[in-house]
Amino acid sequence: MKKALTAIQPSGFLHLGNYIGAIEPAVKLQTETKLTMFIADYHAITVPQKPEDLRRNILFAAATYLACGINPNRTTLFQQSRVPAHTELAWVLQCVARMGEVERMIQYKDKAVGKGESVSVGLFTYPILMAADILLYNTEIVPVGEDQKQHVELARDLAERFNKQFGDTFLIPEPQIRKDGARIMGLDDATKKMSKSATSAKNYISLTDEPDVVRKKIMTAVTDSSTEIRTDRNRPAITNLLTIFSAVTGRPIEAIEIAYLGKGYGEFKKDLAEAIVEYLTPLQAKLSLLLADETELKRILDDGAARANEVAEHKIRHVRKVIGAKL
Ligand code: ATP
Ligand code: MG
Repeated sequence: MKKALTAIQPSGFLHLGNYIGAIEPAVKLQTETKLTMFIADYHAITVPQKPEDLRRNILFAAATYLACGINPNRTTLFQQSRVPAHTELAWVLQCVARMGEVERMIQYKDKAVGKGESVSVGLFTYPILMAADILLYNTEIVPVGEDQKQHVELARDLAERFNKQFGDTFLIPEPQIRKDGARIMGLDDATKKMSKSATSAKNYISLTDEPDVVRKKIMTAVTDSSTEIRTDRNRPAITNLLTIFSAVTGRPIEAIEIAYLGKGYGEFKKDLAEAIVEYLTPLQAKLSLLLADETELKRILDDGAARANEVAEHKIRHVRKVIGAKL
């Protein structure tokens, strides 16, 4: 079985974009691959996080994974900060990476915009920590949304450079991007991706949004000037809503387009909102059950960390040896 790895930052409540772009594909992958999955708390702190929020969001992310169908006996599920080899390898890789290639990362530019000099150094170097996350586990496949493709390519470049300099140490990972839903766009602005750290809650549907909140957000979601319900490269807003509709119902986009021929946005949005509510309700019930038992969540994460440390320690010892740090 191939080895796959995926992660999510506990930087806020997870949203439909995370679910469609990352969690759902991961749930499928755990039957086809040996999956490693972690909660990237050290990535989350690249932007300021209140400690009590971070703690809550870590537990929330773990519960979400489990509620969505991740089986912790099969998949190694853990918290990044509990495996120190991630930050250690990140340091070594920072010394292999070059300023120029890291400066080219689009996500840094997106997140740093408007923040001036106050942006953390961690936000800039985060793709290198991500490379370490991937390379520690001999990962072959990294299922990600479109926004992370460039970071996986950096991990490949760093692995190749390291191997050339110090001998074969890392496998070269491949990004795996789903065709539809790889990039769910914001409901308030269809030119930007749906994001946990968006400034307005109107940007996203959180997996915990109550039915009335979902209805309100969908009814006020931006649409394009034309009224036809059809995907079109030049009409990102309706295309996005159709993609979400298809993802939550499992119906092909073409079938939905046919069903709404000659109908208006009002009816379409009403049905979309109900489809999302129907999809989220059972998930939310499972989530609250899991969140009610913090001890059990922590036990699952402890167990995952122990298993992850075994693999990661092995790799970092090898790295120390080949770079000459082992006496
Ligand atoms: P943040 O705004 O804090 O970066 P995020 O919403 O981008 O949060 P991440 O934790 O960075 O979420 O990403 C987790 C996973 O979800 C990644 O695989 C990422 O590619 C995927 N993902 C994030 N946003 C979207 C989206 N809008 N559509 C599809 N996939 C997404
Ligand atoms: Mg992100």
